[in-house]
Formats: sequence, C-alpha cells, structure tokens
Amino acid sequence: MRSYTLIAPAKINLHLEILGVRPDAYHELVMILQSINLSDEISVQASDTQAIRVRCNHPEVPADNSNIAYKAAELMATEFPSTFAKYGGVNITINKRIPVAAGLAGGSTNAAAVLVGIDLLWKLGLTQSELEELGAQLGSDVPFCVAGGTAIATGRGEQLSPLPSLDNIYIVLAKFRSLAVSTPWAYKTYRQQFGDSYLKDTDSLTTRAAAIHSGPIVKAILNQDATEIAQKLHNDLERVVLPEYPQVLQLRETFASAGVLGTMMSGSGPSVFAICESQQQAEEVKLRVRETIPDEDLELFVTRMTSHGIQIASSV
Ligand code: ATP
Repeated sequence: MRSYTLIAPAKINLHLEILGVRPDAYHELVMILQSINLSDEISVQASDTQAIRVRCNHPEVPADNSNIAYKAAELMATEFPSTFAKYGGVNITINKRIPVAAGLAGGSTNAAAVLVGIDLLWKLGLTQSELEELGAQLGSDVPFCVAGGTAIATGRGEQLSPLPSLDNIYIVLAKFRSLAVSTPWAYKTYRQQFGDSYLKDTDSLTTRAAAIHSGPIVKAILNQDATEIAQKLHNDLERVVLPEYPQVLQLRETFASAGVLGTMMSGSGPSVFAICESQQQAEEVKLRVRETIPDEDLELFVTRMTSHGIQIASSV
C-alpha cells in the first residue's frame, strides 16, 4: 500500500497579543508564529478498507476520532468523497516527540501533515492556500503549520502573512511532563480578568492588528537580529498562566538567570523557551537548568528555529 512519511514541526509564539473577542466568540489575536526543529513523524498510508485509523506511541494522545489527525482525514473524506471512494481509507501513524498540551501546536501540526499526506496520496494537487483553508476548519494553528517558517497570524490565528524566515537561531525548550494547561481555560481566564480592556470597534482592531507590521519585533526579524528579537518577546497569556502555575514562572526565572538572550512562555503554555546566542550556549543553558531543577519530570530540548513547515521524509 502506498504511503508517505512526513515531518511535522512544532511552533513557538514570538508574540501573542489578545485584542478582543470576535462575533464568533473566538479571540481576535495578533501573533508571530515560528516553526522549530522539534518534530513529530507522521505516516499516512492507503488502506483497502474505507476506514480511518490512527495509531500513536504517546499514551496521552487519543487514537480514536477525537484525534485531530483523524479529524483531518475525515475532513478530506467529506470534502473529496469520490476520491475517498476511489482510494479508500487511510492508516495514520504518529511518532510523537513534541510534548503534548504544551502550547507547541503538537496536534495542529499533525493535522497539517495529514492534509498534506492525503493530498499526495489521493493526487489532489491542492495549493498551499487550499490546504490552509481546509486547515482553518480544524483549528486556528493548523494553517500556519502547513508552510511553517515565520509568519504574522491575525484573526483567530488563521490569517497569515509570511515573514523572512529565521533559520539557525538556537533555543532551549522546557516543559514539566505532568503539567498541562488547557488552552480554553487560559483564554477564558484572560477574558474574565482583562476583558474590560478589549478593543470593541472593528476600526481599532484593524489598526492594532496592522501595527504589528511596523512594530519592533518585526523590525528585529527583518534584521535577523536574535538579541533584539529575544528582548521583544511578548505573550499576553503569561498574565494568567504565571500566577496560576508557579512551575512555569520558575522556568522563566531559571532561564533568565542562566544568561539567555530572552525567554517566554509559548502559546497558552506550559512550555517555556529561551533564545540563545549559539548552539553551544543552548547546550550549556540546558545543563544549567537541569542542575538548578533536578526534577525528572522536567523535559528539556535544545532545538532551533526553522523555515520549514510540513516536509516529506519518504514515500513508498
Ligand atoms: P496548540 O498550541 O495548537 O493549542 P497544544 O500544543 O497546546 O496545541 P496539543 O499537543 O495539540 O496542545 O494537545 C492538546 C490536546 O489535544 C491534548 O490534550 C491531546 O489529548 C489532544 N490531541 C488530539 N489529537 C492530538 C494529536 N494528534 N497530538 C497531540 N494531542 C492531540
């Protein structure tokens, strides 16, 4: 049976700003999303049944129809019923390396990989923007995960404006394995605490969203200036997550005292990343954090920013 194996990178947020609430009840966001080399491997294989099956090596990731990779395949089957009937079902195998429920878009990147894999398997020839449109039906981060790299994301995160990519900036990523933050909880709590300051009229929302393009972090990205980028990191959700999760604050503080260029929580957390001067510094920081927090529950990764979204590793 034909199959494609895809590399599905995680993302971090260099910027996450909450502007208001949309009529569809989602939050209106301005983000800068960045792919990193830490990736899952997804294989999408044709099957001679009409079924969609998911297998994953991670105990906390569901293997049923609640897996977002399953939902991606189901969406393709619904959108392209005659092709589905012709080619049959798919077996999806996820080799999970990205920490789960970590604010790293682990599920979203799996969904993006399944869209890309089925497009290849069924020879649909979809364009990047068609794949992104399908992705937006599955989750706000899915469209970005298709092409990856560096991008400004507005709306609920699905409207993308690519930026020149940042390759080879090293980061250390930290997450307590047993700690998970619910994304809906983080946004709901933010709204309860800071909803009064939300922008209400469409003009102000549009103006604020547009301001990012000429703002300091985008300038730093255009200059490929890691030091400046690291100083301009921003995440509104830290305002609700840090007070509630002292371990996340501890990671922020431990990174800061290890002399990194800058540190920030990614997405709704609880993973925290630190931008480093070099690979060598990243390795040293990792050791230092391990010494300061000798907790086996703490996962640490040295990785780097990448310009890649979903990539084909092999096809059979
Ligand atoms: P995002 O940054 O897109 O909000 P996240 O990194 O915070 O995502 P995920 O790793 O996507 O979070 O996991 C969120 C939840 O989704 C988990 O509780 C997990 O059980 C469920 N889930 C469903 N499908 C997947 C998948 N393919 N990979 C990871 N988690 C999945």
